Amino acid sequence: MTENGKPKLAMYWASSCGGCEISVLNIHENILTVDEVFDIAFFPCIADFKIKDVEAYPDGYIDICLFNGAIRNSENEEMAQLLRQKSKVLVAFGSCAYEGCIPALSNLTTKKATFEKVYFNNPTIDNPDRILPQHSTEVAEGELTLPHFYHTVKSLDQVVEVDYFIPGCPPEPPQIWAVLQVVIGALTAGQPLPPAGSIIGAGTMALCDECTREKKEKTIKRFFRPYEIQPNPDQCLLEQGIICMGIATRSGCGALCPSVGIGCRGCYGPPDGVEDQGAKMLSAIASVLDVGHESMDEDVLEELIQEAVDTIADPAGTFYRFSMAHSILKRVKNGKGAA
Ligand code: SF4
Ligand code: SF4
Repeated sequence: MTENGKPKLAMYWASSCGGCEISVLNIHENILTVDEVFDIAFFPCIADFKIKDVEAYPDGYIDICLFNGAIRNSENEEMAQLLRQKSKVLVAFGSCAYEGCIPALSNLTTKKATFEKVYFNNPTIDNPDRILPQHSTEVAEGELTLPHFYHTVKSLDQVVEVDYFIPGCPPEPPQIWAVLQVVIGALTAGQPLPPAGSIIGAGTMALCDECTREKKEKTIKRFFRPYEIQPNPDQCLLEQGIICMGIATRSGCGALCPSVGIGCRGCYGPPDGVEDQGAKMLSAIASVLDVGHESMDEDVLEELIQEAVDTIADPAGTFYRFSMAHSILKRVKNGKGAA
C-alpha cells in the first residue's frame, strides 16, 4: 500500500507482441475500477515510466506485477529480476511469460541461424555489408549498447520465482477481470488468494470438456489444412482430420477457436496432470490414426503411417507452438550450452 492507501499495480512487457496489454484494456469499463482501486506504479504501454523510477522503489513496493513476454535477451532478464525484487506478487501473464510461446519456437533453431534469417536471408532486408547488431558500439558521443541476445528463450519462471501463472495468447478479458477481482478482494478486503504457484484465470480440465462439438470415436486417415476442407459445423474438428489441440490444452477460454470452426492452437497450455503439451498431443494423434491393418507387412504399414503423418504441416511448431520453453525438449541440440 502507499501514501494514499491504494495498492500498486505494474504491468511490463518483455519479449512479446503487445496483445496481453490489449487484452487487459479489453476488460472494457472495468478498467475504471482498476484505475479506482490501484495506483499504477509501472506500465510502459500506457504511461511514461522510466526504469530508474522502479529502481528507486523500496523492495516489495509494487503489490502486484503482471509480467508478460518471454525472456529473449539480457534486458528481459534484468527487468524480470528487478520487478521480482520490487513486487510482492509476480504473475507470469500470458503464454510467453508462462511457457515461452511463439518467441520460444526459435529454440528449434540456433541464435546464429536466427540472425542469418533475420539480417541476411530476409526478402525485406537490404544488408549488403552483412552488418549484425553488436552488443557495444563506439560513437563520437560514447558507447552505445544493446542487450545480449540469448541462445535459448526462457519462460519467466526459468529466471525468477513466480507466484501465479495466467495462461492464454492472450488471456481472455473475462478471465483477466475475474483474476483482478480476486486480487482486489485480497488487497482491499483481506480475502484469500489462491495457493502460490497456481495457474489462475483458467480451468483445470482439457479444452474438449468445454467444447460443444459432437464427439464420436476418432479414426483419422489423414489430416487437412483448414483451407483444404469445409468442416461439418457440429462435429469434432479432430475427427474430421483438422488438427485441434483441445485434448492437450487447458480449458478456460470457452473453446473459442473450435466454436468458429478453427482448431485449437493450444494457447492455454497443458491441462492439470500433463507435463508436456506436445508429447500429449503426439500420443493422442498416434492413438487415433487409422491406416492399414495388423496383418499388413510392417514396411508397408510404416509407409502408410508416414504418409498420414506427413499430412501434418510443421509438427514441432504445431504441437509446441506455445509450450517450447516448458517442454521436456527445451531446445534443439547444438553442441553448446543453453545459455
Ligand atoms: S478436439 Fe477440438 S473440436 Fe474436438 S472436441 Fe476437442 S476441442 Fe472440440
Ligand atoms: S481455443 Fe485454444 S487456441 Fe483458441 S483461445 Fe482457446 S486455448 Fe487458445
